[in-house]
Amino acid sequence: MVNTDKGSHDGLAKCERCGATEIGLNVASGLLRCNFCRHEWSTERVSETFRSEADIGRLSGIVIGSGSTDIVPSAEQVLTFKCSACGAEVVIDTRNSTQARCHWCRNKLSTNTQVPNGAVPDMVLPFSMTKDAAVAAIAAFVGKRKFFAHPKFREEFNAENVMGVYLPYMVVDINAHAGYIGQGEHLTRSYNVKRGDDTESRYDADLYDIERDFDLHIKGLTVESSSERRDQNVLQNTNNIINTIMPFDVENAVRYDSNYLAGFTSERRDSNVEDLSSIVQTQAEDVSRHSILKTLGFYDRGVRWGREQVDMRGQRWVAAYLPVWLYSYHEEKPNGRSFLHYVAVNGRTGETMGSVPLHQKKLLLTAGAVQVAGTIVFAIFQMFG
Ligand SMILES: [Zn+2]
Ligand SMILES: [Zn+2]
Repeated sequence: MVNTDKGSHDGLAKCERCGATEIGLNVASGLLRCNFCRHEWSTERVSETFRSEADIGRLSGIVIGSGSTDIVPSAEQVLTFKCSACGAEVVIDTRNSTQARCHWCRNKLSTNTQVPNGAVPDMVLPFSMTKDAAVAAIAAFVGKRKFFAHPKFREEFNAENVMGVYLPYMVVDINAHAGYIGQGEHLTRSYNVKRGDDTESRYDADLYDIERDFDLHIKGLTVESSSERRDQNVLQNTNNIINTIMPFDVENAVRYDSNYLAGFTSERRDSNVEDLSSIVQTQAEDVSRHSILKTLGFYDRGVRWGREQVDMRGQRWVAAYLPVWLYSYHEEKPNGRSFLHYVAVNGRTGETMGSVPLHQKKLLLTAGAVQVAGTIVFAIFQMFG
C-alpha cells in the first residue's frame, strides 16, 4: 500500500496567502482558487508521484493507494471536527459531502484524510469544462433529437438542472506478460476450376505456426467502482452511457483535496479491488489481443489461437474521482415504472452521449412513411423491370 494522503489534514483548509477558507476550483485554469484574494495553486500531479508511468515495468504484486483500500462497513460516516477558528464542534456527514461550514464562524472545514468508507479517493481529475459549455453541449445533443423526443421531455428540458458530478473509478496500471500460440493462413493463389457444367472457386494457402511472447504495460485502465453503474441492465437505466464518453486524461489527475469538489456533487465508491479484479483481467486480455493485431496482417485468411495467456506480474490500483456533467430526466412509463434517462458530458473532453425519451407516435409514423416509400420504389421497378 502506498500512503497517498500523507501531509493532508482535516479541518480548516486555508489559503496559504491570506488564510481565507473560501476555496474552490477555477475551471478555466484547473487550479484551486482562493475566492477572497484570487491566489491559485494545485495539489501535485499524481503521475509525477505515486502513479509514475516509468514504474509500470517494475510493478510486482498488487500495489494500492491508501484511498483504494477495502471499504469498512462499520466505518464512521459522520465525523466531528473542532473548528480551529472558533472552537465549535462541526459535523461532516461524509455520506453526502467531504466539507461543511462552521455554523458559528462560517469558515469551511474539509475531510482530506482517507476514511475507510470510500468517500476520499487517492486522486481527482478536476473539471476543465465550464457549466455553460456543458449546457451548450447538452442542448445541442437534445436539439438534434428534438423531432423524436417526447413532448413532455422537450417542455421540461431545463439547462439549469445540469449538475457537475465526480464519479468514482479505479485507475489500474498493469505490468503483464502475454503469450499466444496458434496458426495462421496466408493466401497464395485463388482460381476457378471447371467441374462438369459448373465453375468452382478454389484457393491455395500456406499454413504457419505463430507464436507471440511479449511484455505488456497497460497504463490507466479505468473501471467504474460504483456497483450500481456497473450494472448493465438497460431496461432500468441507461448507465452504461458513461462508458461511451471515455476516455479521461487520468495522467493529469492530482492528489485529492476536498476543495476540488466545492460546488460539485460526488458519488462514493462502493466496490473493492477484489470485486473489480476479474473485470480488469478481462479488459487486460482484450488490450493484449488488440495489441498484436497489427503484427498479423500477413495472415489474410485468419488466425486461430490454441493458447492465449496474460499473466499479471504487477498491478497498481488508484481510486479516482472523474468529472462528468449530467442532465437527468425520469420518464414515467404508462406501466407505472420510471425510466432514468440522462445526457452525460465528459468534464474534460466535452464528449457527449445520452438517451432521450422518445415520442412513440412520431416514431411509428416515420417508420410507416419509410415503408410506404419502399413499396412505391419497389412497384416502380416492377413496372419498368
Ligand atoms: Zn487567499
Ligand atoms: Zn468556527
